[in-house]
Amino acid sequence: MRKTLLITGASAGIGAATARMAARQNYDLALNYRSDHAGVAAVARDCESADARVILCPADVAQPDDIDNMFAQIDAEFGQLDAMVNNAGVVDQIARVTDLTHDRLRRMFDINVIGAILVAKETVLRMQAQGTGGAIVNVSSAAARLGSANTFVDYAASKAAIDTFTKGLSDEVAGDNIRVNAVRPGIIDTALHGKAGEANRADRLGPTAPLQRAGTAQEVADAILYLLSDQASYITGTTLDVTGGR
Ligand code: NAP
Repeated sequence: MRKTLLITGASAGIGAATARMAARQNYDLALNYRSDHAGVAAVARDCESADARVILCPADVAQPDDIDNMFAQIDAEFGQLDAMVNNAGVVDQIARVTDLTHDRLRRMFDINVIGAILVAKETVLRMQAQGTGGAIVNVSSAAARLGSANTFVDYAASKAAIDTFTKGLSDEVAGDNIRVNAVRPGIIDTALHGKAGEANRADRLGPTAPLQRAGTAQEVADAILYLLSDQASYITGTTLDVTGGR
C-alpha cells in the first residue's frame, strides 16, 4: 500500500532528491515549494514516471495562511498524511553577528524555525486524527553543532532550534506512534551555497571533512528515507549526522 509524504522545499537540492527517491519507494507525494515552478515541475515529472501520485503545493512556509492552504489542499486531494520531511530552509549572505539585521533574523527564523514548527504541528494534528502513527524528519544542519562563526551564526542558531524541537516533539507524540527524527547534513553540494554568495563552497570546504569530499543531496535523501522507513521503527528523537565525519 502506498503512503503519502509531504516534503517542504521539494523543488531543488535535498528536497528534490528525497522526492525522487521516495517515489521509487512507493510514496505518493505532496511537493511544497515557494518560487521555483520549473524545478518542482521537473521533480514531479520524475516522480510520476515512478508511478507516484503527485500534488504540487506552492506555499511560503513563512506565511501561516500559506501553510493552512497547503494542508487544506493535502486534505482535499489525499485525505491522508503518513510522513513529512521538514526540509525548506534558507541561509543568507555570509556575515558576522555584528552585521546582522532584524529583517534578516526575522526572515531566517520565520522560515527555518517558525515555519518548520507550524508545518510539524499541522502534520501531527492529521496523524493523531488518523490514529495510524507516522514519521517526521526535520532537516537540521551540522551548523547547529559547529556554530558557523564568521559565516552565518543566525542560521546555525535556527538549526539548533530544530534539533531541540525534534527532541521535544518526539517525546510529545511518541504515544501516538509518531516518530520524529532529524538529519544534520554537513557540506552538501547543492545550490544553497550560491544563495549565500559562495557558489563553490562545497568544492572549497568538502575536502576538509574527514571523508575528504562534500556530500550529495542523494546521500542526505538516503538518510531521510531510512528514518521515515519501517527499518527505523524503534528510532525517535534522534539526530543523524550526514557530514562525512565533520
Ligand atoms: P536549496 O537547494 O537551496 O533548496 C531549498 C529548497 O527550500 C527549495 O526547494 C526552496 O524552494 C525551498 N524554500 C526556501 N524557502 C522556502 C519557503 N519560505 N517556503 C517554502 N519553500 C522554501 O537547499 P538545500 O541545500 O537542498 O537545503 C535543504 C535543507 O537542507 C535546508 O533546510 C538547509 O538548511 C539544509 N542543509 C543544507 C546543507 C547544504 O550544505 N546544502 C547543509 C546543512 C543543511 P524555492 O526555490 O521554490 O523557493
